[in-house]
Amino acid sequence: MADTMQGVFFLGAGQLELREVPIPQPAAGEVVVKVGAATTCGTDLKAYKRGHKLFKPPMPFGHEWAGTVVAVGKGVTRFREGERVTAANSAPCGACYYCRRGKPQLCLELEARFNWGTYAQYLRVPAHIVDINMHKIPDGLSFAEAAFIEPLACAVLCIDYAAIALGDTVAIIGSGAQGLMQIQLAKARGAARVIVVGRGRGRLEVARQLGADETLSTLDGDAVAAVKALTDGRGADVVIEAAGSAETWQMAAQMARPAATVVLFSGLPGGTQVSFDATHLHYDEIALKGVFHHTPRTVEQALQLLGSGQVNVKPLISGTISLSEVEEGLNRMARSEVIKLAVQP
Ligand SMILES: [Zn+2]
Ligand SMILES: [Zn+2]
Repeated sequence: MADTMQGVFFLGAGQLELREVPIPQPAAGEVVVKVGAATTCGTDLKAYKRGHKLFKPPMPFGHEWAGTVVAVGKGVTRFREGERVTAANSAPCGACYYCRRGKPQLCLELEARFNWGTYAQYLRVPAHIVDINMHKIPDGLSFAEAAFIEPLACAVLCIDYAAIALGDTVAIIGSGAQGLMQIQLAKARGAARVIVVGRGRGRLEVARQLGADETLSTLDGDAVAAVKALTDGRGADVVIEAAGSAETWQMAAQMARPAATVVLFSGLPGGTQVSFDATHLHYDEIALKGVFHHTPRTVEQALQLLGSGQVNVKPLISGTISLSEVEEGLNRMARSEVIKLAVQP
């Protein structure tokens, strides 16, 4: 094994650099993997374009990955060299106020417990992630598919919050990777009808392939009116917002029927204010729920859903790129030319 490797570093909004750095060595409890695939993510794109509160540059970049164990530190017993593995990008402390109350996604130690740097040839996985959120990849699952463990774990938590009842009509705003995974999860949870609101026709076609019953493009006019027209004027039983603008957050509440649950999945830039119609929220008993990140349970569930084929992510992988193409790949994502790309270092 050589001593150095290539890895992409994030230096600030709009600035990435491919660097030659030492290959990490595992300390006690840690594992080092050779990255098989690292998938691009909307969060990386946001950080690259405008900075992000969780990103403290300069720092190694990328957080979704799957690969092969090449070295294990002292005391690691669950994993061996040569095994194919994947993991979430963090693991909770298990001891803080929120962890003790069953909300590990809000762990007070989270910021220090992220693992960055998957756009690299090798990755060190810290002990807390090895212990809690790293798993062997089921046979038949490619590295690129297994790398979806993290974004799918977020989608699973979101669908839990949506509390879909059998026969519900679910409206999903957004036809990016999250929206496309949530169609499949909503169906698995018993939704009779899934309506996807997006923009580009190509994405909406993929949404149909993955189970959407109706697709609406905001380019064709008022999506709120269209969802109401499809639901006898009521609005959707459950609405999931996964598009990421103040307008789509408002739209999500507007297309919710009385007593609906609205889950606000996508984060907006810091300081964003969104206004809602108080009459609708109060007299119609609308439940607005934010959702963030994932839990060890949803991480494990995500891998089971990928391994069983219940969630198909192949149509979400628009192509394969090298480490030197990460910046260009993120720009292609920004222009909606691709859904996600698999970086093969
Ligand atoms: Zn991600
Ligand atoms: Zn905690």
